[in-house]
Amino acid sequence: MGRYTGPSCKKCRREGMKLFLKGTRCYMAKCPIETGKPAPGMHGQRRSRKLSDYGVQLREKQRLRRQYGMQEKQFRLFFDRAAKRSGVTGEQLLQLLESRLDNVVYRLGFASSRKAARQLVLHNHVLLDGRQANIPSMMVGAGCTVQVKESKKSRELAAKGLEASDGRGVPTWMSLDAKNFQGAFVRIPTREEIAPNVDEQLVVELYSK
Ligand code: SF4
Repeated sequence: MGRYTGPSCKKCRREGMKLFLKGTRCYMAKCPIETGKPAPGMHGQRRSRKLSDYGVQLREKQRLRRQYGMQEKQFRLFFDRAAKRSGVTGEQLLQLLESRLDNVVYRLGFASSRKAARQLVLHNHVLLDGRQANIPSMMVGAGCTVQVKESKKSRELAAKGLEASDGRGVPTWMSLDAKNFQGAFVRIPTREEIAPNVDEQLVVELYSK
C-alpha cells in the first residue's frame, strides 16, 4: 500500500485526537479537533459504537503509528526490534521511535512537524555526527549530534522551522544550539519523559496475539 497523500487532519479526525501532523496549525483554534469536526465518512457524525478489545488495540496502534508518520510495515519492524530487546517492550518501542532521525530533527525544532522533518532529512539538509544523513528512519544514538547543513537553503529552511516551533520547547533529553543550527540527542528518554498520549501496552497486546 502506498503512502497516504490525503489531508493530514482527516487522520486526527478518524482517531478523535490531535496527532500534531501539521505544525503551527495544530496549535491554533482552527484545528478541526478543536472546532469539534466529526470523524470523516458518512457515519462520522454518529455516536461511536462501543469498540471490541481488538478495535481498541487497533485504534491505539494506529494513533501511535500515525503520530510518527510511519507505514504499517516499518512500524511492525520497529515493534519486532523492540520485542527482541530486554526490558519492557512498550517502553523499548517508544524509545526506538524517539530515536528516529526525523523525530529528533522535529523535536529539536528544525521542522514544524515530523512530516516536514522527514522532508528535510530526505533532501539532504541534515548531518548526523558531521556526516550526511538522508534516511529518516536512521537511529540516533545517545550522545550523537544532529546539525543542519551549512548551506543557505538548508539554514533558511531550518530557520523557518525554528520560528514555527518556537514555544514548543526542546525535550529534556536533548540540547539545542539554535544559533549554530546544531543539537544533540543527549540520552535515551524514559517512558515517563516521552509521556505518550496513547497506551503503548495496547499496541504490545495487539501485536502479541
Ligand atoms: Fe490537523 Fe494538526 Fe489539528 Fe491534527 S492536530 S487535526 S493535523 S491541525
